[in-house]
Amino acid sequence: MRDPVSRKKRIARLKKAILFTIAAAIIIPTFLAVFFGIRLHSANKKNDELKQTVYNLQLSLQELRSGAEDTEENVPLYDSQEVAVSSREDGACEDEETKAVTDGMRKVYLTFDDGPSTNTDRILDILADYGVKATFFVLGKDNELYKDDYERIVLEGHTLAMHSYSHKYNEIYSSVDAYEEDLTKLQNFLYDRTGVWCHYVRFPGGSSNTVSSVPMTEIIDYCNANDITYFDWNVVSGDATSGYLSKEQIFANCTSKLNTLDEAIILMHDSADRNSTVDALPDVIEYILDMDDTLILPISDDTIPVQHIAGDTVAEQVEE
Ligand code: ZN
Repeated sequence: MRDPVSRKKRIARLKKAILFTIAAAIIIPTFLAVFFGIRLHSANKKNDELKQTVYNLQLSLQELRSGAEDTEENVPLYDSQEVAVSSREDGACEDEETKAVTDGMRKVYLTFDDGPSTNTDRILDILADYGVKATFFVLGKDNELYKDDYERIVLEGHTLAMHSYSHKYNEIYSSVDAYEEDLTKLQNFLYDRTGVWCHYVRFPGGSSNTVSSVPMTEIIDYCNANDITYFDWNVVSGDATSGYLSKEQIFANCTSKLNTLDEAIILMHDSADRNSTVDALPDVIEYILDMDDTLILPISDDTIPVQHIAGDTVAEQVEE
């Protein structure tokens, strides 16, 4: 006859073995899923980082090539806008290279209005720290204090774009002629300072401003006729409001709806009294760089402009 004690022991061992098997069947796959999940996530992140780096390298390379060509022709050395111009005949192949990197990626454009200011260097330092490029819609400040800022924006590969020479609403929006005079003055001023012939503009108050005495469609028609593209925005940092916004509020405004957009143009300001915008900038950049399949780019001819209203000439083109 069998010993009942050893039988009990055998049953207990069997129970343990079954429990162990069940536990292993749950724990091992869970562990593997977590392990490979983390690996996959960090691989995706590395891929994004690599794309951002490749894009920046391509920009630098194109800049070098364009610099070499320009030197031969004895025209100003740096022309950041030309770098990414898709219509340039000899740039077609470079654009394809750039497109291969940016295709299928969310594109975020950091844009700064109203500079240069005493904050410009801080902004440029932060952008340089993260190796990302932005767009500056600048004013005409004929002041020694800001002399180098225009040049630094261009030399560091950012897009120099126009805002307004005077930024005086009552003057620039009094007639199309007055607008043209102000913008042409800025275009020439920036060309003298940097050698860049700017052809991107952001209207003070945006195209949907309600203060202009002339219909904005007429001003837009003027821009279209002169090969000047205007850009509004679809994300606001909120730093244009009269009240002070904390860096946390700026961060939240800049980032809260980014995941709903394929292309985001973020409106920020480069001005002396907008310190919290600069304080928030590192967190904003880190947040965007952490997003999957997302690149931070400077505005170029490849950028699809965000425009709140269209000029008559644009409307006609769309209808055709
Ligand atoms: Zn402005």
